[in-house]
Amino acid sequence: MTAAVIDGKTFAASLRGRIAELAAAFEAKAGRKAGLAVVLVGEDPASQVYVRSKGKQTVEAGMASFEHKLDASTSEADLLALVDRLNNDPAVDGILVQLPMPGHIDEQKVIGAISPDKDVDGFHVVNAGRLAVGQHGFVPCTPLGCLMLLKDRLGSLSGLEAVVIGRSNIVGKPMAQLLLGESCTVTIAHSRTRDLPDVVCRADIVVAAVGRPEMVKGNWIKPGATVIDVGINRLPPAVEGGKGRLVGDVDYASAAEVAGAITPVPGGVGPMTIAVLLRNALVAAHRNAGLALDDDTI
Ligand code: NDP
Repeated sequence: MTAAVIDGKTFAASLRGRIAELAAAFEAKAGRKAGLAVVLVGEDPASQVYVRSKGKQTVEAGMASFEHKLDASTSEADLLALVDRLNNDPAVDGILVQLPMPGHIDEQKVIGAISPDKDVDGFHVVNAGRLAVGQHGFVPCTPLGCLMLLKDRLGSLSGLEAVVIGRSNIVGKPMAQLLLGESCTVTIAHSRTRDLPDVVCRADIVVAAVGRPEMVKGNWIKPGATVIDVGINRLPPAVEGGKGRLVGDVDYASAAEVAGAITPVPGGVGPMTIAVLLRNALVAAHRNAGLALDDDTI
C-alpha cells in the first residue's frame, strides 16, 4: 500500500481564502477590521520567522496586525503592562505572546494575564478547562489544524481508535481532548509508555507530537491507518550531506508503505497552524463584536 498524502499546504491555503472572505464580511458589518496582536520578546531566530509570517498572513487575510517587538531585557512587569493594554484595546480581538520567552519571564504568568476571550492560542487555563468540559473557548492552533485535516480525510471519527504520542499542553493533551470530543477511543502515549509500537499498532489514527526525528516506524502502523505527523525536526547538516533536512516524528518512507493516509513534513501540519490562528482571531472578533459567524465550516 502507498498512503494518500494529506496536503496541509493546499488545505491551509483554502482555509485562509475562506477566512479572508469572512474577514471582509466582518469589516462590513462591524465597521472595523478584526485585529490580531503578536508580541515577541527577544531575538530568537525561529520566533522572528514565525512572527513575520503571522503578521504577513494576518494582513493578507484582511485583518489588522499589531506587532510588538520587545527587547530581550524587557521586564516581566513591562510585558504584563503591555498585555493589560492589549486586553483593554477594542481594536485588538486576539493576543498571542510568542513562546519561548526569555528565562527571566514567567511564561505561565504572562499567558494567565491574557484575557481568555482574546487568548487565540488557547493556552490560558480557562480555555484548557473549556476544552476539557466541551464549552466554546479557544483551542490551540496546531491540534485544531490536525483535527480539521482528519475530519476532511475521514469524515466522522466516531468510534475510531486514536493514539496521540506526546502529552504537552500545546499539542498532545488538547489533541487528545479534541479526539475524545469526536468520540474516538483515545490513548495518550509519552516517554514512560511501555511497548510503544504495540500501543501504536492498534490505532486507526496516529498523531505523533514527540520532537524525535523519524521515531515512529512503518512496522508500528496498522495497515490503512491515518497518520498525522506534528513533528518538525531539523536533521544536523552532517546527516544529510550539509542540507539540514526537515523531518517529522514519523519515518515517512516506511510509514507511507503501510498507512492509508499520511501528512508529509514539511507541507502537512505545519501550514495549518497559522491558518487556524487566523481562524481563531476571526472567531474572537465576532464574539467581541457580538456578531454571529455564519459559517460553521471553519
Ligand atoms: P514537547 O517536548 O513539549 O513534548 C514532547 C512529548 O513527547 C512529551 O510528552 C514527551 O513525553 C513525549 N516523548 C518524548 N520522547 C518520547 C519517546 N521516546 N516516546 C514517547 N513519547 C516521547 O513537544 P511539543 O508537544 O511542543 O512538540 C512536539 C513536536 O511537534 C516537536 O517536534 C515540535 O517541533 C512540533 N510542533 C510543531 C508545530 C507545528 O506548527 N507544526 C507546533 C508545535 C510543535 P514526557 O511528557 O513523558 O516527557
